[in-house]
Amino acid sequence: MRIAIANFTHESNTFVAAPTPLDAFHIYRGQDVIDHYTPTFHEVAGYIAGAEEYDFTLVPLFSANATPGGALTNEAYETLVGELLTSIRAAMPLDGLLLALHGAMVAEGFPQADGETVRRVRELVGAGFPLVVTHDYHGNVPPGLVADATGLIIYKTCPHIDQRERGVEAAELVARTARRDVQPVSAIVKPPVIFNIAFHNTNSGPMKPLMDAAIALEKQPGILSVSIAAGYQYADVPWMGPSIVVIADGDIALAQREAERLGEMMWASREQLIPRIPKAAEAVAMAMASSQWPVSLFELGDNVGGGSAGDATIVLEELLRQKADGWVVTLYDPESVAHCVAAGIGGRVDLRTGGKLDKQHGPTLSVSGRVRTLHDGTFEETERRHGGARYGDQGLAAVVEVNRTGPGKGGLLILNSLRIPPMSIHQITCMGIQPQQQKILVAKGAVAPRAAYEPVSSRIIEVDTAGATSISRPAEEFAQARKDLYEWRR
Ligand SMILES: [Zn+2]
Repeated sequence: MRIAIANFTHESNTFVAAPTPLDAFHIYRGQDVIDHYTPTFHEVAGYIAGAEEYDFTLVPLFSANATPGGALTNEAYETLVGELLTSIRAAMPLDGLLLALHGAMVAEGFPQADGETVRRVRELVGAGFPLVVTHDYHGNVPPGLVADATGLIIYKTCPHIDQRERGVEAAELVARTARRDVQPVSAIVKPPVIFNIAFHNTNSGPMKPLMDAAIALEKQPGILSVSIAAGYQYADVPWMGPSIVVIADGDIALAQREAERLGEMMWASREQLIPRIPKAAEAVAMAMASSQWPVSLFELGDNVGGGSAGDATIVLEELLRQKADGWVVTLYDPESVAHCVAAGIGGRVDLRTGGKLDKQHGPTLSVSGRVRTLHDGTFEETERRHGGARYGDQGLAAVVEVNRTGPGKGGLLILNSLRIPPMSIHQITCMGIQPQQQKILVAKGAVAPRAAYEPVSSRIIEVDTAGATSISRPAEEFAQARKDLYEWRR
């Protein structure tokens, strides 16, 4: 039995002006797909493990993914989806396909691009062909995608640490479908709420009982899989918001009934979905007043994993204004890194840093200090962390000691040359910084960095800041999203 595997993923933030071009994508083909993903915790690693467990021959086709950012250009989308379709056609005859799609890809002309991709794949492979899709928990799933796929399986954790298991589960579903052991039928329900990212943690808050109910439902006879996508509010697309997907074995009425039951449960939690989160001034004061360190501040408006700039200065400006010490802030600023390299280790630099990519993420600041470390920016993560990656690369990077001679002991500013989200603590430790010796760690993210930062932090404080991933964007800034979402009409 020959099952093809492919990966085409991007989380697209429609509030980021710069589009994501073709050359932003890392591409692997054929055997390289297997070699790249095997040592990771990504769902493609689960597909690979599943081939052995469920006894099928892997046909690795193609993998393309890029750091979250603006919508794909038409060239990027058409080229990559074109290669995906060509590679499927070339690999035929096949008994099934496992396809990893993010669920929040937007392309020029296709606000629900993953839905368009599945539509084109289905058109190519024909009705009845086993086509199992996996999604990130932050997908904005359109009902059409669920209709076109044989089954959709979504991560159950945020931070996403179960990707590999979901890949194995998808492999099982495609194999059992191809062998005609099961006949998957799916229902999707989309409760009219935004489900703010502030509540996406699956270990606490309003999502935990919902996910527990989904997991319990999977044990019921006749149910093959139950998924909840929390949605992705940084995309103005028709189906922005959460989704509940239930796959039953041949019994569509059962799938529909149970999806609606979970949908009612989510709807009943709507009053709990209104965030109350401090702004930067209050959050920094709270961190400074802590009796146990380090405290981690999560800068929500510059959630790099959600597509933002990575160079927001809003929290840094407040740390400087309140003369905090023992802080660590990371900014994406290749230009400043070049200045640090020119100055050399121990050299003094006067920098204009941050706030350079756009006007949403705070002002460019004047910062002076001494270059403490220069590093090639690569690191390895062997623990299970959000995204499942093993090897990280923040590009050529520098640490600048700021205000060491001024009041307090100042802080450490990490400047890097590749815009990457803070999913691994080794982004900091590789620079020679020990988190336990610091007081305030700033991570540019919402929930995803928890897997990396909870083990080293006494406490995590979320900070409501402006930016491309602001959690309090008003309804008026959305044109395509449904207008009946509870948070907007309460
Ligand atoms: Zn995600």
